[in-house]
Amino acid sequence: MNVPFLELNAAYEELKSDLDAAYQRFMRSGQYVLSSEVEGFEKEYATYCDAKWCVGVSNGLDALHLALRACGIGPRDEVIVPSNTYIATWLAVTQVGATPVPVEPDCRTFNIDPAQIDKAVGPATRAIIPVNLYGQPVDYDSVIKIALRYGLRIIVDNAQAHGARYKSKRVGGLADVECHSFYPTKNLGAFGEAGAITTNDDEVSDRVRVLRNYGSRIRYHNEVAGYNSRLDELQAAFLRVKLRRLDDWNARRRSIANMYLNQLDGSNGLILPTTLAWTEPVWYLFVVRHPSRDALQAALKEAGITTLIHYPVPPHLSSAYKDSGFKSGAFPVAEQLAASCLSLPVGPHMSDEQINAVVNAVQEFCDSSR
Ligand SMILES: *Cc1c(COP(=O)(O)O)cnc(C)c1O
Repeated sequence: MNVPFLELNAAYEELKSDLDAAYQRFMRSGQYVLSSEVEGFEKEYATYCDAKWCVGVSNGLDALHLALRACGIGPRDEVIVPSNTYIATWLAVTQVGATPVPVEPDCRTFNIDPAQIDKAVGPATRAIIPVNLYGQPVDYDSVIKIALRYGLRIIVDNAQAHGARYKSKRVGGLADVECHSFYPTKNLGAFGEAGAITTNDDEVSDRVRVLRNYGSRIRYHNEVAGYNSRLDELQAAFLRVKLRRLDDWNARRRSIANMYLNQLDGSNGLILPTTLAWTEPVWYLFVVRHPSRDALQAALKEAGITTLIHYPVPPHLSSAYKDSGFKSGAFPVAEQLAASCLSLPVGPHMSDEQINAVVNAVQEFCDSSR
């Protein structure tokens, strides 16, 4: 059986009539930039996240970048980031001229280990960017405690956990500012580029709103040197349609994850992801670990199953950061995860037959490598 990693067009087939109607409404409106669709989406997504404000921007990287600027972070500042994340988290820090300071994850949850943040804090530290990696919320309470102790801002990278809960509260309104990517593969994905920030802080919301639109509130009056990072009106119209399905899609992801967790438990050599009792993850990715990861990936490919690696190169070893002086071995947990992790297919439109095919192929590999 052929199992693709993700079938993005399935969402279009499911919501075709509503998406086509949204497209026609947009085309007929004659208003193509920062108009009623963006406003509507911002209200609906803020409500969804239990946050006071949502400001739509062009993509997830811009959300992080503008959030850092809105918090006043710039050259000579240090920002704590996970050593294992998609490189965008680091790049946003670099874009404002600040320095990313990596902290290792808890290898059970893949999320930043709050117990290790303390020793990375120095006199120049201004903020922490925890990432809700693979769909699981970080330990917000522990991160908030540390941030309060040292007077740091918390900017959450929530590109991968739309709709997740921490201690039964929705992520998005729990830190100073939370940044969302609506890249097509994400749990809430656009049909192109899109992103947003959510916050309860009036000032942060206001600054991002001004920064995304050339630094202006009133046309041709530019308060600050801003950017063009507006959320596209058509993407906002599509996102409004998909947002209404997000909880159902996340529930389906959860049931797929539970099937994997139950059926793959005890497989020889396989390490399954751990979820902590106080989080309700939304399974953007289902990441397992195996000492013979490359062989496992090849065996699955042979069986028609596509898997991916998130991520094969930790940011500190990426060529993009070759001038930062990080050596191989500097962040062993991140390096170990990069060498052993494998993302199994998970998505709201996967069939039970496809999941069974994945389970059988993984079990067969694990049994044969006994
Ligand atoms: C997708 C992603 C981003 C970047 O989002 P874009 O919309 O592609 O700019 C940032 N951080 C993480 C963790 C991501 O997964």
